[in-house]
Amino acid sequence: MNVKSFLSPALAAVVAVAGSQTVLAMDDSQYSSWPAYDGSDLELLVDGTGTHFTLWSPKADAAEVLIYDSGRNTPAVDSLVMHRADGGTWRASVPEQLYGKFYTFRVTVGGKQLAETPGVWAKAVGTNGERAAIIDFARTNPAGWDLDRGPELKSITDAVIYEMHHRDFSMHPSSGIVHKGKFLALTEPQTRSVLGDKTGIDHLKELGITHVHILPSYDYNSVDESNLPSNQYNWGYDPFNYNAPEGSYSTDPANPATRVLEMKQMVKALHDAGIGVVMDVVYNHTANNDESNFSLTAPGYYYRHRADGSYSDASGCGNETASEREQMRNFIINSVKYWADEYHIDGFRFDLMAIHDMETMNKVAVELKKINPSIFVYGEGWTAGDSPLPAEQRALKENVGKMRGVAVFSDDIRDAVKGHYSNAADRGFATGKPGSEETVKIGIVASTKHPQVDYGKGNNSKFPYASAPTQIINYVSCHDDLTLTDKLAASMPEATEAQRQRAARLAQTIVFTSQGTPFMFAGEELFRDKKGVHNSYKSPDSVNAIDWTLKNKNAAQFDYYRELIALRRAHPAFRMTSTEDIARNIVFDKIQSPNVVSYSIRNHANGDEWREIKLVFNGSDAPFVAKVPKGEWTVIARNGEIKAAGLGTSKGGSVVVEPVSALILARK
Ligand code: CA
Repeated sequence: MNVKSFLSPALAAVVAVAGSQTVLAMDDSQYSSWPAYDGSDLELLVDGTGTHFTLWSPKADAAEVLIYDSGRNTPAVDSLVMHRADGGTWRASVPEQLYGKFYTFRVTVGGKQLAETPGVWAKAVGTNGERAAIIDFARTNPAGWDLDRGPELKSITDAVIYEMHHRDFSMHPSSGIVHKGKFLALTEPQTRSVLGDKTGIDHLKELGITHVHILPSYDYNSVDESNLPSNQYNWGYDPFNYNAPEGSYSTDPANPATRVLEMKQMVKALHDAGIGVVMDVVYNHTANNDESNFSLTAPGYYYRHRADGSYSDASGCGNETASEREQMRNFIINSVKYWADEYHIDGFRFDLMAIHDMETMNKVAVELKKINPSIFVYGEGWTAGDSPLPAEQRALKENVGKMRGVAVFSDDIRDAVKGHYSNAADRGFATGKPGSEETVKIGIVASTKHPQVDYGKGNNSKFPYASAPTQIINYVSCHDDLTLTDKLAASMPEATEAQRQRAARLAQTIVFTSQGTPFMFAGEELFRDKKGVHNSYKSPDSVNAIDWTLKNKNAAQFDYYRELIALRRAHPAFRMTSTEDIARNIVFDKIQSPNVVSYSIRNHANGDEWREIKLVFNGSDAPFVAKVPKGEWTVIARNGEIKAAGLGTSKGGSVVVEPVSALILARK
């Protein structure tokens, strides 16, 4: 997620107004003295003795619960006065199990009664998340849920991550999918495009990825769930209810259990296909300021402020949360634990992770591993603006060495391979611009310390910031910024589509053979574009939806990706887990030619059947003659083609690497 620009104009106006108000607190240091409460009964618990409400609001003068028969537009049928309790909470109970009812909280602070809120821990909500719902979660589990498990991973580097928005993936008329834009789209087997190619979950299996990374799927603010036929699109980086699924991805947003059940059905269908589910989480800011659920329960506490009391804004979205405060830290940790427990989520991607402090992220990683050792955590190791949180405490890319169990996106390899992300015309290593060779090498060794890599020549980072390759996510494009297809069009305007596809192949070959964990944007394997729109957060489906007829048109491109992924998954040499292994097994060749990087992976690295793999990347427009030791080599990739099982053989010696292509040779 980039910056404020993703907000709708109306929402931006709300933020602008709210941001100008002075909040109750002028000094953030006061919050450290507030009591915290970490009980699992926060806000709602239904048991044999009745329905119990527990709201954390230490500075409230009064608090009440309002009970409703429906999710919106109806008067309260009851209200319960809450009484002060332990740890800054307020409590109220009734002896009945209020399944089927809805509720909100309303607190009075400083003599002022605030607006109603579903609270911060609503696990089920009605339309637009206005009211929390009381449902029996035991009835929201699909058949076989007890035995449902995601794929087991020894190391995050064994993952191949596919980043996907629900609407992008299924909305296009060509998708052959019935439940377009819904969680259920990922449950439909044997879907085919209008031209007969596999789509949906069959496509994911055919491609060979291990994990889908779904863009925000908690209940977000911007899509009006009461008007789904209007086909609104949003990425969803505007959190509203963190612990309930988004209604517009369900078939019936008014039914709180439906969105829960259907999201679980999605997870189960993917798990049954051997695919894990990573959720994009955005705890760094909320869609609203004074009207957020945080502000309406405990005003001031959950956010950082400037000295004048205004909201600080490291997110570029009008506010930033305060993970260093105990109740907020607990909230983040308990929220991801909840998604892992209740929805069997296999990984978490933290948006603008450097807004959070390292202690929080370390605890997140430790607690999730206790639930499932295969869960992994990664995030954007940067902020979108300055923060009051001292840089040495931030979960920054440069600090990842102090966050065992957390990975960060490598903007180093991203920008080196394709050119700078924000300068559309800029080229990179794979598109003929010299000067990024050393940064490509930094990418290959996953930003770990290596005796042959000169970090002083790095374009972005100047030191080996990763303590292990398990801390690096490699990519050349994602939902943010131009797609790879659009970037290539903008930076190679004179090139033919075939030439751009060739550059895309080289770029992804570098990513998928590098140490660390590869990550791709959905549809790149079909050479999808977004019509040049770099910030398509609310663009229509006509920009964002994947046209599945491209799978026929660009069949050779898809085959290349599939073989590239198969190669990586078949060979542990590309998936080393320690800095020491990489330093010992990867040997770079001394090359003077611009836009050429050549190296070997030796010693049956990481238990590989191959004794040696030779990789030569030529991003220049001239052939490069590689010097390869004489021997019996299998040709894996050459001249824009790749086959994991081999394209042929080579005796080594002088081997020509054609312009804009990768040469990969292997020997036992
Ligand atoms: Ca919503």
